[in-house]
Amino acid sequence: MRIEFLGTAGGVPSLYKSVSQHLDTIQRTGPAIYINDLQLLIDTSEDIFYQLRRSQIDDIKYGVYSHWHPDHTVGLRIWETLNYDFINKIPQSKKSKIYITEQQVAYFKKYFGHWDHLNYLSELGVIEKEIVENNSRININNASIEWIQLAEGFAFGFYITFNAERILIIPDEIKNYIPIAKIKEVDVAILPFGSNEVNPVTHERIHEAGMLEELGEVRFDESVELAYEINAKHTYFTHIEATESLNEIQVMKLEQQLKQSGLNATIAYDGLIIQT
Ligand SMILES: [Zn+2]
Repeated sequence: MRIEFLGTAGGVPSLYKSVSQHLDTIQRTGPAIYINDLQLLIDTSEDIFYQLRRSQIDDIKYGVYSHWHPDHTVGLRIWETLNYDFINKIPQSKKSKIYITEQQVAYFKKYFGHWDHLNYLSELGVIEKEIVENNSRININNASIEWIQLAEGFAFGFYITFNAERILIIPDEIKNYIPIAKIKEVDVAILPFGSNEVNPVTHERIHEAGMLEELGEVRFDESVELAYEINAKHTYFTHIEATESLNEIQVMKLEQQLKQSGLNATIAYDGLIIQT
């Protein structure tokens, strides 16, 4: 399966400090993941237009959302940009199927007019909505995709099985999550990096002490602890919050530190493609 990290920043990428360790994609942009084999897009941040341009993706059949937070959703107009036919008198637009859980519907109705916007896109003929139960399971081609509701009940991860492969994708909001048996020992786990109050390599302070606890934000060491519990063959960390200023050498050191402690892990960067 070909999985592409379209954007690897967290919720608040800083305009000028956000960097990535990869020379071709020097910035981190809003969170999004694309699975080529399924033509499935997970999340649409405000950066999605340029991410799709960069990766030359123009035909997306399916879309899902991890949760309603703006860093994952405010680019949802992309479905119009992507699919609307602006050539013919009677538009022959493409249509993407958007799956959305019952829990998410409630939040999309509450925040930012997202539900109204999705209805508008439906009427325009560029998407088709399908509401699914929380913890639902669907099939796309030969893959099974299951929603995993997190401890932060408004948010979801995705458990994907394809042939003999097992892949777990949790874009964000992993705080206090206790991994269920099914998602352990997967081939690939994609997990949120979380935040660091102190740079884990240079030990330079980034945030005021106690700030993450106050906000209830997951810390990087908690994410690492969860990664151990899940025990994937390979873990990729994304949604790199606050420590987005880690440079190439620091990322390398961090990956080495994780390896020495027994975790086979990669810090993702925009444009990173995994071929499982
Ligand atoms: Zn987020």
